[in-house]
Amino acid sequence: MDFKRELEGIREAGLYRSLRRMESASSRTVRVEGREMLMCASNNYLGLADHPLLQETAMEAIRRFGTGSGGSRLTTGNTALHESLERELAAFKGTEAAVLFNTGYMANVAALTALVGAGDLILSDRLNHASLIDGARLSRAEVQVYEHCDLDDLEKKVSSAREGSMSTREELTGATALDEGDSTRGSQGRYRRILIVTDGVFSMDGDIAPLPDICDLAERWGADVMVDDAHATGVLGAKGAGTADHFGCQHRVAVQMGTMSKALGAEGGYIAGSREMIEFLINRARPFIFSTAQSPAVIGAVLAALQIVQSEPERRESLLRRATRLRNEMLAAGFDVLPGETPILGVVLGEADRAVAFARELEAQGVFAPAIRPPTVPAGTSRIRLTLTAAHTDEDVGTITDAFTNARQALSTHAL
Ligand code: PMP
Repeated sequence: MDFKRELEGIREAGLYRSLRRMESASSRTVRVEGREMLMCASNNYLGLADHPLLQETAMEAIRRFGTGSGGSRLTTGNTALHESLERELAAFKGTEAAVLFNTGYMANVAALTALVGAGDLILSDRLNHASLIDGARLSRAEVQVYEHCDLDDLEKKVSSAREGSMSTREELTGATALDEGDSTRGSQGRYRRILIVTDGVFSMDGDIAPLPDICDLAERWGADVMVDDAHATGVLGAKGAGTADHFGCQHRVAVQMGTMSKALGAEGGYIAGSREMIEFLINRARPFIFSTAQSPAVIGAVLAALQIVQSEPERRESLLRRATRLRNEMLAAGFDVLPGETPILGVVLGEADRAVAFARELEAQGVFAPAIRPPTVPAGTSRIRLTLTAAHTDEDVGTITDAFTNARQALSTHAL
C-alpha cells in the first residue's frame, strides 16, 4: 500500500487526524502541549475521573489484587470486585444480571455478534455509534439502516420484514426473539430474530432516542430492542441509570449496554439484561472469552462512581441545568446548535476545514474542543462537539460562548 499517497489524500480532504498531547487534566481544565485550557469536550460528564474517592478505591483494589488481573474472567481473572460490580450494575439498571467488557466498543461487538447471526435482521439508526455498526457487520445478520429517530421509517422496515407471515408479537409463541435458541430462519417471517438497535443519547448530536415508541413498535412486530447508553448512564433518569430510566421503560429493553468510560469516570463497558442472556454472553461472546479481565483498579474506581451517581443526584441536575443554559446562550449568539437536552452540544459549522479552523481559534481563546469531521459525522456537518461536566461553573458557560463568538469574528476577518 502506498501510505504516503493515501495520507496525502486524507490531508487534501481536510480529514487528516493527529494526536494531541494532554500533559495533565482535571474534570474542568486540561494542559495541552504546554497550554492550560478549559476542557469542553470530555465525556467525563459528572467530573468523577479525578474524584478522590475513585482514586482511593482504585488504589485499594491494586493493593488487594495487583495492577493486572492476569487472565480472562473464565480462567483466573474473575475477582470478587468484578462480580460485585456486575451485581451493582444490574441493580442500578433494574435488570436481573449484567456482564462486564473491557471497553464499550467491545461490549457492543460482543453483544451483537453473540445475540444475532445469519438469518436475523438488525434495524439500526443511521446515527448509531461506530461500535454498533462494526458489531452489526461482524454478526453476519442482515442490517437495515433506518433514518435517524424516524419511527415511520422504522415501522416500514420492521413491518415489511415481517410481511406475509404470522409476525406480530401476539402471534409469536410468547417468548421474546432473543430467548429463542438458534439463529436459523423460523416460520414466523423472513427473519428469525429482529433486533432494533439504537444509541440512547446520540454521541455526536446529543439528542435522545424515542425509546418508548421504539419499544411499542418492537412489541407490535415481535422484535427486541438494544440500547447503547454510553452517554446516558449517570446522566439521564430519575436515578441516573440512563435512557430507559429517563422514560421508565427498563423492562421493555432486552439489551441495555453502557460504558464506564464516560460519566462513571473510568473505562470499560457492560451489558445488562435477563440472567439467561447474560449467562449466554459469558458462554458465547468472544470479546469476553478471549480477553484479559479488566484491571482491578478500574473496577474499584467504578464501584465508587456508582455509589456517587446514586447518592449525589445534584451532580447530574446541575450539569443538565448548565447544559441548557449553554445551549440557550449559544443559540442566542446565533450558532447552529443541534436540538437536544443533554450535556452534548453539536455546534454545526459545515465543511471539515472550517471546523478545524474554528477549533484552532477556540484554542487561542483558551477553550479545548476539537473538530469532529467525517466519517464520525456526515459530510457537510463537521462540527465542534461541546460537552460540559459537573465541574464546570456558570462562569465557564459565559467563557465558552464568548470564545465561540470571538472565534467566529476572527475567522470572518481572516476569510476562510
Ligand atoms: N457507544 C457510544 C455511543 C460511544 O460514544 C462510545 C465511545 N465514544 C462507545 C460506544 C464505545 O465506548 P468505549 O469508549 O468505552 O469503548
